[in-house]
Amino acid sequence: MFSKILVANRAEIAVRVIRACKEMGIRTVAIYSEADRNGLHVRLADEAICVGGPKAEQSYLNIPAIVSAAEITDVDGIHPGYGFLSQNAHFAEICESCNITFIGPSSRAIRLMGDKLAAKDLMRKTGIPIVPGSMTAIKSKEDALNTARRIRYPVIVKAAAGGGGRGMRICHNDGRLFNALMTCQAEAEASFGNSDVFVEKYLEEPRHIEFQILADKSGHTVHLGERDCTIQRRHQKLIEEAPSSALDTKLRRKMGELAVRAAKASEYATVGTVEFLLNRDGTFYFIEMNTRIQVEHPVTEGVTGIDLIKEQIRMAAGESLGYKQDDISLEGWAIECRINAEDPTNGFSPSPGRIVTYCQPGGRGIRVDTHVCAGYDVPPYYDSLLAKLIASGETRQEAIRVMQRALDEFIIEPIRTTIPLFRQIFRDPTFWRGQISTNYIDRLLGEGE
Ligand code: ADP
Repeated sequence: MFSKILVANRAEIAVRVIRACKEMGIRTVAIYSEADRNGLHVRLADEAICVGGPKAEQSYLNIPAIVSAAEITDVDGIHPGYGFLSQNAHFAEICESCNITFIGPSSRAIRLMGDKLAAKDLMRKTGIPIVPGSMTAIKSKEDALNTARRIRYPVIVKAAAGGGGRGMRICHNDGRLFNALMTCQAEAEASFGNSDVFVEKYLEEPRHIEFQILADKSGHTVHLGERDCTIQRRHQKLIEEAPSSALDTKLRRKMGELAVRAAKASEYATVGTVEFLLNRDGTFYFIEMNTRIQVEHPVTEGVTGIDLIKEQIRMAAGESLGYKQDDISLEGWAIECRINAEDPTNGFSPSPGRIVTYCQPGGRGIRVDTHVCAGYDVPPYYDSLLAKLIASGETRQEAIRVMQRALDEFIIEPIRTTIPLFRQIFRDPTFWRGQISTNYIDRLLGEGE
């Protein structure tokens, strides 16, 4: 087992990892930027090192500074959290060459799954349904046109190296397709340093269903059920639930088996997520695999009782899984809201600044994962997640009621947050009935592409 882990991240996920390490008797090192000197993760870790300026490129993405911090503090593992360097194959390789365990998959698996086209190709060969579309990067306008006409509009243009909901355009006709190609390629080059894009069928009104995978280094692989992440805005998740009201036992078993098969095909060892889009008629397609712990992991913890961060650390240390698929049972319902520093009444514009009043909900069925408190200055440099509010109950209805009263208790002032939007959603009868699709928020707010 590890004796000391450096947490190469900030905010709530750094706090989450440090807490798990403490409970496992592992010492921790926090890294921080000049903007995060007073961060909770800095206070909770056993040691802390400043790795650079406020911008992510100067600090949380600054590989030489992070590796130096790891060497100076003599750690034997690095936990990357999510975002930042968590899916950077080059960083994983450097860690290995310095004899420090990267707490995540091999650089090979990161590279393979980081390329959506390569991942789709592998899944097709493994017998997993993929969204119809091009199997290689688009080379010309004609190439794109032929694909779109073959699979029929609407189509979606996607960046092969895409992530975080960026680098995607929906098109309903040839004219839009040409524009989308150009803007997507430019955005992909600027954001991911890779301009490869592809075209696939745009599914209308699907649900986003993802399966949590857990695998050890000997190849034992299980799934921990699904998360329903259908409530999104601009392809970014806002609410996640486990389980999904769209799945029955039979469909859960089928999708779960395919998710495990997908993980095994990529020789995957650690925690990961296999993402699918599910149509109303029960057909579903693989879209991608995420090779890291995800923001929404607490809802799976809520229904399985398994601590995913501790399992991830155990797997990285070479321990074996110790249980089989049949040993895993799902109980109750858990829902998570991402409380972001954004103004939902003004196009979700960022809302950094000082939090003067902070009053967090609690009580039965509530978990809040956060790094903020009264007096905290929300920096403008990073993503806007302030807190994850997770409500649990025996049934979906009970979890929704717990969430409603927790949202009523939650006060974060004077900055703008997504709390009022969530209050609106949890009052909506359509949401209560579970009649949701990835277009739900657009419809609720009267937006759309
Ligand atoms: P990212 O890697 O940026 O998160 P994903 O491929 O995981 O991108 O897709 C994110 C979201 O975009 C999905 O949950 C879904 O809402 C939407 N999306 C992606 N592909 C399609 C598709 N073919 N049809 C309809 N929606 C899609």
